[in-house]
Amino acid sequence: MNTLSPVQNPANQAGAYNAPQARRVEQYAGQTGATPEISVVIPVFNEEDNVELLYSKLVSALTELGRSWEAILVDDGSKDKSFKKLEAIASGDSRIKVVRFVKNFGQTAALAAGIDHASGDVIIPMDADLQNDPADIKRLLAKLDEGFDVVSGWRKERKDELFLRLIPSWIANKIISVISGVRLHDYGCSLKAYRKEVIKDVRLYGEMHRFVPIYATWLGAAVAEIPVDHHARQFGQSKYGISRTFKVVLDLMTVKFMSTYLTKPIYVFGTAGLWSMVMAMAAFVWMVVLKLCYHTSFIETPLPVLVAVLFVMGMQLIFMGLQSEILMRTYHESQGKRIYRVKTLLNVQDQNQ
Ligand code: UDP
Ligand code: MG
Repeated sequence: MNTLSPVQNPANQAGAYNAPQARRVEQYAGQTGATPEISVVIPVFNEEDNVELLYSKLVSALTELGRSWEAILVDDGSKDKSFKKLEAIASGDSRIKVVRFVKNFGQTAALAAGIDHASGDVIIPMDADLQNDPADIKRLLAKLDEGFDVVSGWRKERKDELFLRLIPSWIANKIISVISGVRLHDYGCSLKAYRKEVIKDVRLYGEMHRFVPIYATWLGAAVAEIPVDHHARQFGQSKYGISRTFKVVLDLMTVKFMSTYLTKPIYVFGTAGLWSMVMAMAAFVWMVVLKLCYHTSFIETPLPVLVAVLFVMGMQLIFMGLQSEILMRTYHESQGKRIYRVKTLLNVQDQNQ
């Protein structure tokens, strides 16, 4: 991770920076400090009637696995009793870690915070409303053990509203599948399993958590999908409506652009710019031909305007491309990001360490 958190930031340790909000950090008795194998990450926003049941289901599902685990519950600025209940649970069980936001930042931010605080080798995001079934974790892990890096849940029999949820989501899933080239049925299912290496360095924005399997595939990870159970929400309300579908499609465009052209933005802007120039040229030639051969005056047709507009647009696009090149270089170089990813090194010192 390249961005320094307040704790890692040396300027902060020297007292040069005061966090706007004092952070309360508590450790409860029984904390072992050993890193667990599995980290379950759960965003929680106004789920007071779900957290206790979630905890008991989680404990029984995870205990059955016989592996060490932790669950990071991120309270995303809940206004109800969710945090109080989480606090009570965490005080009796050190495997339950709680991160509380100062305000509501959204599911993606909550997920990102949970991942940042997770220390397990396998990271499993999940919803707090029990629409996902903790019992499915076992099957996700079994699939991961077959050698996959990401296992994505597929809500094959999804229990949500038909017109506002299922149909828009079906269309969005089809679009995502075609544009990304990564063939999954259900990108929006929260329940997934990731190997730590795949997800730790991914920066999440907007609604982009659903695209992590796509990023991962593009970066060379092996991704599988398995059907998981889905239940209707029993307590509390869904936080989303139809507007999310539009956000998802816009995010997809960003993801696609970033992945294809991040290192070469001039190819996108420059190509559009050059086409614009070519069309300006064609309009110019046509205008001159009309004048010389057909004695049509320049101002009798809209061609001069077209020539000017297309020419200026072409120039602008090319300059925008050059500007984005500078931005992208700054982005990569300031953060020490590399334009490639290595899988294995033999007899070679890792440059990143
Ligand atoms: N959530 C959150 N912050 C938000 C909205 C939702 O942490 O601003 C959590 C919510 O508590 C739940 C998960 O994200 O655990 C999924 O939300 P929801 O069940 O409302 O979405 P749906 O299942 O209807 O798509
Ligand atoms: Mg839900």
